[in-house]
Amino acid sequence: MSFSAVIVAAGEGLRAGPGEPKAWRALAGRPIVRWSVEGLLAAGAGEVVVVVASDRLGSADDALAGLSGWKAVAGGGTRAESVLAGLAALRTGPDQAVLIHDAARPFVGKAHVDRLLAALDLADGAIPTLPVPDTLKRGDGVVGETVSRDGLWRAQTPQAFRLGRLRAAYGAWPAGEEPTDDASVMERAGGRVAMVAGDPMLMKLTYPEDFMLAEQLSAGRRIVRMGQGIDAHRFGPGDAVWLGGVRIPHDMGLIGHSDADCGLHALTDAVLGAIADGDIGEHFPPSDPQWKGVSSDRFLLHAVSRVAAKGGRILNADLTLICERPKIRPHRDAMRARIAELLGLPIDRMSVKATTTEGMGFTGREEGLMAQAVVAVETPF
Ligand code: MG
Repeated sequence: MSFSAVIVAAGEGLRAGPGEPKAWRALAGRPIVRWSVEGLLAAGAGEVVVVVASDRLGSADDALAGLSGWKAVAGGGTRAESVLAGLAALRTGPDQAVLIHDAARPFVGKAHVDRLLAALDLADGAIPTLPVPDTLKRGDGVVGETVSRDGLWRAQTPQAFRLGRLRAAYGAWPAGEEPTDDASVMERAGGRVAMVAGDPMLMKLTYPEDFMLAEQLSAGRRIVRMGQGIDAHRFGPGDAVWLGGVRIPHDMGLIGHSDADCGLHALTDAVLGAIADGDIGEHFPPSDPQWKGVSSDRFLLHAVSRVAAKGGRILNADLTLICERPKIRPHRDAMRARIAELLGLPIDRMSVKATTTEGMGFTGREEGLMAQAVVAVETPF
């Protein structure tokens, strides 16, 4: 069944402690709002509207770069106003199923969505619920009473409705009151809301401890992938070589269609290799005149953007340059700094090494220079 989704990411999340509003904080290297958007898109959402604070529209473009099928709209002063802004931005008709989701529940997946949509066939709304395992107390520093758990459930999101029915329910909601979720709006309007099995993985990140727990939980949902790249270029006339994003004065140059930066080419192939996305020649054909003489950082940044589009991130990289001359050592830290910048890595995760071949082979005869790179990338499972 097709569905649309509204993700509410306009809140400040003050209980989460100081720092960025929680939807924009990183979880395993990706903004939390991105987890929710990717989860719902992967579950089959036809369109996703992300409701953000009006000064965050640019942040949404950054956080969701490379994904398609979403748009961001500015929310209102309350959660209800933000939900209504999201509903207004949907292109679909009144009978379409719409899921309303809190951005701060990053682990939403297809199984959750499928249960909700199945239940929506027989009700005006459907919500994931969990039993309350702990004994409940009412009190204020001192226990006043023990509250029976009988019939009590915790409500999670996403919550599913028909678009037209939910709009009508919001229209009937009394002014001046603030609903804490969308099901309560449907209930008040006389709608029947079905309860389906919730999931501890739909936890809402609220307190600082929640973010640490989510970081650990996220590990099982990611895989580490390796990529390797090799490149060689021939020496020719010139007075400098580009290597590892750094210009090194030399008594020869390197011949190539671009700036012939062997190190960045090997790294580009390693990054593409890690995500099984072809090779540098496929993305930047040497026959294409637009790449003539360009700086090779363009190639590497492109490969990095392909990783981001898969929801991945680069973990570390190791580059080995193989030549007799020029001496690499004096330039090594400048290369590490430049490449770390291009890969979005801290410098202690970027290694540059050099070796000679003891005078043997084409590198030993100084006919050319060679580079090998290995990159580790983490992507969603
Ligand atoms: Mg090359």
